[in-house]
Amino acid sequence: MSTDGQTIRCRAAVAWEAGKPLVIEQVEVAPPQAMEVRVKILFTSLCHTDVYFWEAKGQTPVFPRIFGHEAGGVVESVGEGVTDLQPGDHVLPVFTGECKECRPCKSEESNLCELLRINTDRGVMLNDGKARFSIRGQPIYHFIGTSTFSEYTVVHVGCLAKINPAAPLDKVCVLSCGISTGLGATLNVAKPKKGSSVAVFGLGAVGLAAAEGARIAGASRIIGVDLNANRFEEAKKFGVTEFINPKDHSKPVQEVIAEMTGGGVDRSVECTGSINAMISAFECVHDGWGVAVLVGVPSRDDAFKTHPMNLLNERTLKGTFFGNYKPRTDIPSVVEKYMNKELEVEKFITHSVPFSEINKAFEYMLKGDGLRCIIRMEA
Ligand SMILES: [Zn+2]
Ligand SMILES: [Zn+2]
Repeated sequence: MSTDGQTIRCRAAVAWEAGKPLVIEQVEVAPPQAMEVRVKILFTSLCHTDVYFWEAKGQTPVFPRIFGHEAGGVVESVGEGVTDLQPGDHVLPVFTGECKECRPCKSEESNLCELLRINTDRGVMLNDGKARFSIRGQPIYHFIGTSTFSEYTVVHVGCLAKINPAAPLDKVCVLSCGISTGLGATLNVAKPKKGSSVAVFGLGAVGLAAAEGARIAGASRIIGVDLNANRFEEAKKFGVTEFINPKDHSKPVQEVIAEMTGGGVDRSVECTGSINAMISAFECVHDGWGVAVLVGVPSRDDAFKTHPMNLLNERTLKGTFFGNYKPRTDIPSVVEKYMNKELEVEKFITHSVPFSEINKAFEYMLKGDGLRCIIRMEA
């Protein structure tokens, strides 16, 4: 029986209050409106950004809400005006979009879509300012346009990457956010040459994806920097060849790196969001050609301070959002990198739980246990 145009009743994990365990509820999911698509989610995973907004310390709290933004699913139905997706297509929802109409979308140089750029405060659809989720008439709000902790969700067509239907969704679902962010920071922005040296600050999922990018690019030295020595063993699987724990040294880590590398690394990628790590990541690159790329999100009042001579001596400082990938145009090719065995995705997946145990995924992340936990919608 077709569900096209009908409201669907299904299970969703609802966050009723900040910091409280999610509750699996029966929700109603309205049909997609103009330029929207209803997606059956098959696999989703938990990312730090979900936990950050679930804890709601310091941001505008929007509750009740359905979190989740790393996922893979199948199109169930499409709204008016949607021409490039149809029921049955395999898709990855992405927290930032690509409308293909605005100036940044038309520019080869930007992925910061004016219409669909991430908005963490909005809990409703752009089309009519309403939520598509409800429980007995009470609206349940969306999260960054994706809300994948639900068996069905409604997403703007511009936030869906259509991917190879042969790609296993239980693996490639992790390419929706963190892994692509780190990978793209290295491959699209830092662009290390074969045989070069790369320093990666922060060895969580994003940093290890940046290291994986350096490995794919053929870097010969990949130096991992982290305050947690327990991460070093795992990082070897991602091509990291050397480790520095700043706590083991009395001098700044940029000086340690300069000594190890004869003046500095060729490239560095910062994935912690700590302002001091950002400054170190910039000051540890070699003069003449070094490029540092900032990925981690800083605190609100941070200011970046370095001596301008560091720039005059031909070092470059860059920043990136979502690894400079345009979601619809570029993410399908990241999936192909996995399909042709260039990119290894399995090593990022350390846990897996059925949907009914989604709160376990939060526990793993809060304990810092593992990298990615896959949440299986169908047991
Ligand atoms: Zn756009
Ligand atoms: Zn994320």
